[in-house]
Amino acid sequence: MIGIYGGTFDPVHFGHLRTALEVKEAFALDEIRLIPCFIPPHRDSPSVPASMRLRMLELALEGRVGMTIDTREMDRGGPSYMVETLASLRVEIGDRPLLLFIGADAFAGLTTWYQWQRLFEFAHVVVMTRPGFNEQVVDGFLTSRLTESRQVLKEHSAGYLFFQSVTRLEISATAIRQIIAKHRDPGFLLPESVIQYIRQHKLY
Ligand code: ATP
Repeated sequence: MIGIYGGTFDPVHFGHLRTALEVKEAFALDEIRLIPCFIPPHRDSPSVPASMRLRMLELALEGRVGMTIDTREMDRGGPSYMVETLASLRVEIGDRPLLLFIGADAFAGLTTWYQWQRLFEFAHVVVMTRPGFNEQVVDGFLTSRLTESRQVLKEHSAGYLFFQSVTRLEISATAIRQIIAKHRDPGFLLPESVIQYIRQHKLY
């Protein structure tokens, strides 16, 4: 199974990295691909160019086997619609199961995503929740796709909704940008190599 983890990564931090690692282990994934978006359709434009967000991801993942970066959204340009990303991945991987990981905050807005129902044609959607979180799915389309079985995900290439609890670290890129803007120390919120890159290029 292949997992994908999309984000702005402006900058990447331990909240992203820890959850990506945990889901890779929980689903015994061959690979988890982090996909930095080019233009996020649902939020303000990133404050740092795509090439620099990508470089920070590379630094963060250095030496990590099975955690890779997929640049298709940056290569494609334009607004980064997840349904297009999944469609192009599907062409490459044949009928192997594909898991799209999203945080609970992203899941709350899922039904506003461009052609959101079609996401399930190409992948399963796995929502990363904090332990003890009780999922509340009201949308009928989504409830009909809910499963509690990892086996079901393995046996189908796409189409199901699953909730996976992860250690949610209270870290956000927004808070990190604010800390840096105030000339405070972001240490231990993100990898030191990324902090050095931010300093070197005077980002945020
Ligand atoms: P910003 O603060 O700029 O909105 P962010 O820190 O939320 O950024 P994104 O790159 O927008 O990061 O998030 C990408 C994905 O990572 C989303 O699915 C989001 O839910 C998830 N995510 C972000 N922060 C965490 C965290 N601390 N723990 C777990 N998942 C997270």
